[in-house]
Amino acid sequence: MSNLPFTLPACEQPATGRIEIYDPTRPVGSLDASAYVCDQHSDDAALAILAAGLIAQRVPLSPAMARTCGHVYTYPTGSLAGNLTHPTWCDRDECVRRQAHCSAVRDVDTGRVEETALAVVLVQYLHPAAQVMVSLTALDGVTGGERILMSLGQARVLVYRLRQLLDASAGGAR
Ligand SMILES: [Zn+2]
Ligand SMILES: [Zn+2]
Repeated sequence: MSNLPFTLPACEQPATGRIEIYDPTRPVGSLDASAYVCDQHSDDAALAILAAGLIAQRVPLSPAMARTCGHVYTYPTGSLAGNLTHPTWCDRDECVRRQAHCSAVRDVDTGRVEETALAVVLVQYLHPAAQVMVSLTALDGVTGGERILMSLGQARVLVYRLRQLLDASAGGAR
């Protein structure tokens, strides 16, 4: 399977163990795939799966299961089958590859030339307990740009603070 977000060691030895693969963004207990491994590749395979933001759980292999090391069975209902469940705001653009759900980019466009280009998006990484966050990126055309991630709570307070500052800048006499 070429569309998996991880690569297992290339090895055709008889598998001696199985690794259950779970997508942490899905309801607990929804098995997404099983990887079959030999003793020698068990650690490498588990690390590759973890590095892809997935949960790897080693389980004993039933002796009746004759599989080769490196074989992956993808459950058709699981997120690795290509039907990852996305939040409603996600733009669904290769979320597994970028390891995050992202909303469409919202440019902070004032209709004028500004020194810094700002963009905001919603982001949710595909790791366990990942929260939805607001990403604010500033591009000044000189440096590579700066990205700030904040919680939704911080974003709400920031909106409030910005309003206060804008009101203050309007200069009403107090
Ligand atoms: Zn192996
Ligand atoms: Zn998504």
